[in-house]
Amino acid sequence: RRPTAARAFTGPGRTADGHPVQLLANVGDPAGAQAAAAAGAEGVGLFRTEFCFLDRAEEPGLEEQVGAYRQVLAAFPGRKVVVRTLDAGADKPLPFVTAAEEANPALGVRGLRTARRAPEVLDHQLRAIAAAAEAERAEVWVMAPMVATVAEAEDFVAACARHGLDTAGVMVEVPSAALLAGPILARAHFASIGTNDLTQYAMAADRLLGSLAELSDSWQPAVLRLVEATCRGGAQQDRPVGVCGEAAADPALAVVLVGLGVSSLSMTPRALGDVAAVLEATDLARCQELARAAVDAESAQDARAVVRAGLPVLA
Ligand code: PEP
Ligand code: MG
Repeated sequence: RRPTAARAFTGPGRTADGHPVQLLANVGDPAGAQAAAAAGAEGVGLFRTEFCFLDRAEEPGLEEQVGAYRQVLAAFPGRKVVVRTLDAGADKPLPFVTAAEEANPALGVRGLRTARRAPEVLDHQLRAIAAAAEAERAEVWVMAPMVATVAEAEDFVAACARHGLDTAGVMVEVPSAALLAGPILARAHFASIGTNDLTQYAMAADRLLGSLAELSDSWQPAVLRLVEATCRGGAQQDRPVGVCGEAAADPALAVVLVGLGVSSLSMTPRALGDVAAVLEATDLARCQELARAAVDAESAQDARAVVRAGLPVLA
């Protein structure tokens, strides 16, 4: 089967009745950022900074980091770019911050937790992000991966503020963070739901194991309920909640996420056109009805079926 060409995207993203939904790109390096800009992405919803440094034994120096971040920011002048601090560990070991041996690396010292062992690495990275943002006069939002507690969110926001980075948020990819989204978003300025890890941790199913694919499915109603809880916390605190996991690239699931209250979707650039087309054909009230049906379903299969049946545009 030949791969189908990506549908072109001309933003901005919105529902049929004009409710705005920012459609953003996931990028991992300057080349990816340029490709995302060429695809018309409204900004970057997830810059995976660890992808710039995966092969390194040593921490990259300040100048090198500033250079890499500047190139990504330069691709989106005046646009929102969400820079995630290093998400090292589990499937992405970085020798300068992760431990060589852990029995359960997905449950170990990964993401923001590496700052317990090497706080200076986070501090250097925030300094580099701040310098890059200033040099490019960019609209930088900074976020931490694998936040699990209110205290972690509070400490991260404070660390960002010490570097003059005043839009600081958290990824919601651990169920505890979804359930505590209200108090977390009383401290953090935004949340971005990482549905890949949120699904892995909610379902206790390794995201890399193909044999568990039916569990590693973001249509699982339990996962959708965690998204709903996160959006409720965001609404309580009047803070934006986005999604940057693979779920955002599934057009039918994007409708559900918008119906639950998500205000931005970040994805691989080639998915932008298809997601935009479905949103443009669906008004917000319909997104909300379909979201309700998906959350109330008893299986991922039922959730997917009820939503797809309600979206003639996908037929
Ligand atoms: C996620 O977990 O959904 C996410 C976006 O982060 P990553 O895939 O880099 O772990
Ligand atoms: Mg993740």
